[in-house]
Amino acid sequence: MEATAPLIRLEDVAKLYRMGDVEVRALQGVSLQVMQGEFVAIMVASGSGKSTLMNILGCLDRPTRGQYFLDGREVSGLTRDDLARLRNRMLGFVFQSFNLLSRTSALENVELPLIYSGISRKERHRRAREALVRVGLADRADHHPNQLSGGQQQRVAIARALVADPKIILADEPTGNLDSRTSVEGMALFQELGAAGMTILLVTHESDISRYATRVITVKDGLIRSNRQQQPERAVLAPHREEEELSA
Ligand code: ADP
Ligand code: MG
Repeated sequence: MEATAPLIRLEDVAKLYRMGDVEVRALQGVSLQVMQGEFVAIMVASGSGKSTLMNILGCLDRPTRGQYFLDGREVSGLTRDDLARLRNRMLGFVFQSFNLLSRTSALENVELPLIYSGISRKERHRRAREALVRVGLADRADHHPNQLSGGQQQRVAIARALVADPKIILADEPTGNLDSRTSVEGMALFQELGAAGMTILLVTHESDISRYATRVITVKDGLIRSNRQQQPERAVLAPHREEEELSA
């Protein structure tokens, strides 16, 4: 049997910020591995290194010490172009509060990651539509974000993360501003994507969310305090009607 390699591997990753005489140790030696198909909830207390960890995982910042292997390649050894290619091939991002462009349709929002990829407009449209179908929002393609409920905006953000066909989704507090019912909808979608082989890393400070993940890692003061696999609770949706939600 062929051994499977982790998609993400951090080896003793530390990040130290220096401001004048003051040193802040945002990460103090974090090691972790994530295999394909895992749905990992990383619980980080506020002020405890969440953004720092997300920036490193997203290849937007480099550790001061330690190594980050993404799909088996150590990212600090890559040229800018190789890193950009690896990042585009591997990672889709769901941002905190979704970062949707307000004057732009759902379809165009989903297309954004493909704009500089050299893919034709027609093909971009096709892929964006396909991603909206995957999240169950095909019928809202022409709506602007303010014409969508919070849960629908979240789905647009997830479709945008999926559109370039990444191997991993990195989600930064994706349920932050949503009520708990709507958060569960998002978790149900992540679980569905996970069952189809997608790897998901979700950073949150809400312990409610972590029960839907297949692995929970807690980070405090820049250190991993616990890391365990679990039988996830299934995100089950209570029956609801969208009209109620919008008129509420
Ligand atoms: P979180 O996102 O969990 O609030 P951060 O990763 O943003 O935490 O920050 C962790 C620690 O590192 C904090 O003490 C913060 O003040 C410090 N920090 C973050 N970014 C910088 C920076 N660019 N320069 C100096 N200190 C920073
Ligand atoms: Mg932060």
